[in-house]
Amino acid sequence: MFYKSTRNSEVKISSAEAIVQGISADGGLFVPSEIPSISMDEIVSLGDMSYAERAAYIFKKFLTDFTDAELKYCTESAYNDKSFATANIAEISHLFDGTYVLELWHGPTCAFKDMALQILPYLLTTSLKKTGINKKVVILVATSGDTGKAALEGFADVEGTSIMVFYPQDGVSAMQKRQMATQEGKNVTVCALNGNFDDCQNGVKAVFTNEEIKQKLSNGGMMFSSANSINWGRLAPQIIYYISTYAELVKDGEINAGDKINVVVPTGNFGNILAAYYAKNMGMPVNKLICASNANNVLTDFINTGIYDRNRKFITTVSPSMDILISSNLERLLYIMCGENDAQIRDWFGKLASEGRYEVTDDVKAKLKADFAAGCCDDVQTKACIKEIYDKYSYTLDTHTAVAVKVYEDYKKATGDNTKTVIASTASPYKFSTAVLEAIEGSVGDMDEFDKVEKLHQVSGYDVPKSLAELKDKEIRFTGVIGRDEMKDFVLKSLSL
Ligand SMILES: *Cc1c(COP(=O)(O)O)cnc(C)c1O
Repeated sequence: MFYKSTRNSEVKISSAEAIVQGISADGGLFVPSEIPSISMDEIVSLGDMSYAERAAYIFKKFLTDFTDAELKYCTESAYNDKSFATANIAEISHLFDGTYVLELWHGPTCAFKDMALQILPYLLTTSLKKTGINKKVVILVATSGDTGKAALEGFADVEGTSIMVFYPQDGVSAMQKRQMATQEGKNVTVCALNGNFDDCQNGVKAVFTNEEIKQKLSNGGMMFSSANSINWGRLAPQIIYYISTYAELVKDGEINAGDKINVVVPTGNFGNILAAYYAKNMGMPVNKLICASNANNVLTDFINTGIYDRNRKFITTVSPSMDILISSNLERLLYIMCGENDAQIRDWFGKLASEGRYEVTDDVKAKLKADFAAGCCDDVQTKACIKEIYDKYSYTLDTHTAVAVKVYEDYKKATGDNTKTVIASTASPYKFSTAVLEAIEGSVGDMDEFDKVEKLHQVSGYDVPKSLAELKDKEIRFTGVIGRDEMKDFVLKSLSL
């Protein structure tokens, strides 16, 4: 197995090289040269393994240049009950008849990003050793909240790395800001930027591609890398929990081996749902992949019409991790669907850059319709869904998962499809206490973040995640705010260059 670029099918590198590079020099994303298969017997046999063992088993099919010992080291270091609040790593909750919620937020930062970012540092440092690159890796992250904290937690005190996170001063939730500002570790830096998320992302990109900085870095024995979901090392770990969940449902007698299931995913950058698509194409029986969006419904329109058009207003919602108009990982899906035609991908994504719009071929439209369904809802509907599920089932959803539940309810009504369904739950409700309390209680008066957490505890009955409760007494380490033009100097100074 080797990896090629979605914008140049001639590229041929190992998985270790793909993980170190993050993104291809031609601007494309790395994809495996073929999708490996998994048989039903293999899936069923995963039922008797720990999560770490399941992960090693599935990784072996994609990271063929890694040894068994390396995979064992990476998976056992990441997926254990020291890092995760549950020995199962991911939990499955039976919500209502034939509908399961896959809780992916029992990791240290209470969002599903932990599922990949707990293991990425191990995959990356192992890849560096394998490729013989003897440089310190500097991870630069622009975040709207969840990725930044999960990356900090993953890379804190990892030897041979340092990490620098930039977030928009007024663009993250109070809890998210607190999580980042109190981050421990000798190799971490966190800084707020006076601007929005786009300013952060543009700033980071500018630093990444600045030749002078790259040269200085190289002279100092360092190199940049990325912890974004464009990195294959973040996508591969996400395939595992879908197959693991299928094995678990068979083991528990909820489905029979071979039964098809639907998978519903609250979607932003299209990484999580793309992982489910890979699981399906490996051999996990799936009926429909249901793509759920908030009011930023560019993907709903795309799946329903085949026209991707980002020329629309960016809407700030109560599910901020899905507020996105350019879903990077769609490029991987389209590369597969158009028969790995790299010229076609260059054309479409060139148009996206220049005109903000492209239209796929009839053949690809038909493939999209066959595999996917899509829907969206606004903040009012999201909150109504939180309230409805709370009242009916005493289950408290976060704002992102609620989008998925609402879109699934609409889908079921419209289609009458009774296939058993797994809904990916991407964050703990405690990360978005304000909106969740507003949904359930009507309003939240004048409370600080930790009063809200306490209130949500009373309302939901769920234990407060230890990592969030501890924040109250943790020292605030990072208070710096810089202007948009100061990022380059800030990076150089932080690295003593
Ligand atoms: C990142 C994130 C999403 C979106 O996931 P993608 O892989 O980018 O589609 C959804 N919900 C939460 C809570 C997230 O942090």
